[in-house]
Amino acid sequence: MESENVASREKMESLCGLVANIEPFAIHDGPGIRTVVFMKGCPLKCIWCSSPHTQNKIMEVINDTDKCGKCGACIEACPKKAVQRSEEEEIRIDRNHCDGCGVCAETCAYQALEMSGKRYTVDGLFHEIEKDIPFYRRSNGGVTVGGGEPTMQPDFVTAFLTRCKEQHIHTAMESCGLATQKIWTSIMDHLDLLYVDIKHMQEDIHQRITGASNRQILANVQMATERVPTILRIPVIPGLNDDQDNLARTAQFASNLGRNFVRIELLPLHHLGEDLYRKLGREYPLSDVHPPTEERMLDLKIYMKNFGLNVQIGG
Ligand code: SF4
Ligand code: SF4
Repeated sequence: MESENVASREKMESLCGLVANIEPFAIHDGPGIRTVVFMKGCPLKCIWCSSPHTQNKIMEVINDTDKCGKCGACIEACPKKAVQRSEEEEIRIDRNHCDGCGVCAETCAYQALEMSGKRYTVDGLFHEIEKDIPFYRRSNGGVTVGGGEPTMQPDFVTAFLTRCKEQHIHTAMESCGLATQKIWTSIMDHLDLLYVDIKHMQEDIHQRITGASNRQILANVQMATERVPTILRIPVIPGLNDDQDNLARTAQFASNLGRNFVRIELLPLHHLGEDLYRKLGREYPLSDVHPPTEERMLDLKIYMKNFGLNVQIGG
């Protein structure tokens, strides 16, 4: 028995997770004061994603050309010759050749280049959050893992949640819901609360706007609500998923969920991530779509409440 414990401890110590960023003192991602750990990597590519730096499970350069002093040090330093100067004299990263080594960011004296992604051991990540345990205790808060999609790094996230539970820390996860049944089931056992998105009920539209089918997601949501308190989040994207037919289907689906279903949260589209697309050298496809007005959000809330559901706007 003792040798099994030693083996499992050694396995935990050898695990490494790729984290996009850590946000302390968060108040919209579960009860109380929380630390949110954003993991890198997501199986979906939602066209409204506000965290594009979490989509890829790799180290990436965030290139803030507004801060650049045009010294050229990064061009000299890059071992892959992936940094170039454009005709407009702007620094460009050739993402096809960049391997995420981080040398350019270390070299830049103007802090115009920053790496998205940091590797942590379970102990290292726990060390980052444990200083805030007194705040969790006083506020009935805890730790939330989000992303990206936490289930893309299942062993690491499970080990980290286990570590939190050993210290009696409340655990929550924000998920897109797409994971194999095996991974999904095993992570549920380490959660006190789950937030999971429903983006569209119609499979072909879901495929078109997120890049993946919704079948496994809907099955996972159903299963989760039988095991752990679950809040459904619907990103409200005008013209994509806010029509009555889709909302009625979503409400009917929610009405038949398990006993641990808590409520629906309607999250209006925002453009806060737009600048990150530019810094990652990507196009933001939704810049012309206006966020829904407060009146529109209220109408949608009332419409869904008519199905007998607990619905709120925002998280
Ligand atoms: S992260 Fe490394 S490979 Fe990528 S651009 Fe910077 S120095 Fe070059
Ligand atoms: S090292 Fe920094 S300031 Fe100099 S050119 Fe590169 S990004 Fe710009």
